Amino acid sequence: MNKTAIRTLQQYLAESGDYTGAIDGLRGPKTRAAVDAAMKRHVDKLPSGSDAWSERRLAVACLQLACHEKRIEVGAIDGLWGPQTDYAHEVLDTLLETGKKPPLWRDQQPLDANPNGWCHEAELEQTLGSPSRKPPLVVVPCPWPLALAWDPSTRPSGIGCHEQVAESLSRVLERVHDHYGNERLRELGLHLYGGCYNKRRKRGGSSWSTHAWGVAIDWDPARNRLKWGRDRARLARPEYEDWWRFWEEEGWVSLGRHRNFDWMHVQAARL
Ligand SMILES: [Zn+2]
Repeated sequence: MNKTAIRTLQQYLAESGDYTGAIDGLRGPKTRAAVDAAMKRHVDKLPSGSDAWSERRLAVACLQLACHEKRIEVGAIDGLWGPQTDYAHEVLDTLLETGKKPPLWRDQQPLDANPNGWCHEAELEQTLGSPSRKPPLVVVPCPWPLALAWDPSTRPSGIGCHEQVAESLSRVLERVHDHYGNERLRELGLHLYGGCYNKRRKRGGSSWSTHAWGVAIDWDPARNRLKWGRDRARLARPEYEDWWRFWEEEGWVSLGRHRNFDWMHVQAARL
């Protein structure tokens, strides 16, 4: 727990009336007493065994409770500082500072354009044929170096997709590349390619996945897991706003942006 986090915690404790000391980012006796007082009111939300937690762990748990109280998705109150707590803390910090949660990632609406006339995903079979037969695939070269997400030593030269979406995909990739450049794309994890064509059913469903037609692409799957929402998924962050705009200008649909799950996935089919 760094100084900023302790300061956020003190601010919250001051607001709730448990703390009257200085907001100095130091975990001194007054802060500890305030944490104890606050935690006593929330014993019901703590797992068994929490009475044996260290002072530091209790302080982290208290910050998690603060997030929880402010309706910031923070996950289990476990007193452990993982990526979700880290992000929730940032949101809480902004909220206490400005009275508002950080705007971009909640307020951004997906663009509702469809210049290529992509069909509804339920009409894919009718439009492109049954995926039981392999669709006509072409490889669209990627202007920046890709690495296979689950085997980064493999460097695909391009993306094998349905021929119907190839030109559009190529335009998106060009725009993305012009905008971000190789180095930034790598920093953002957008060199991690998670696959396109894959003859399979939807995960946890019986209908065909849009991947079975080669009209969907996954990016950086490890940091954008299927069930993760915008509180955890990397691709939900503001620095990816332009990335999504390039896809959406071509009518591609992000499940994350529309449904807040499967942020790795983008498809050339309407929902
Ligand atoms: Zn996918």
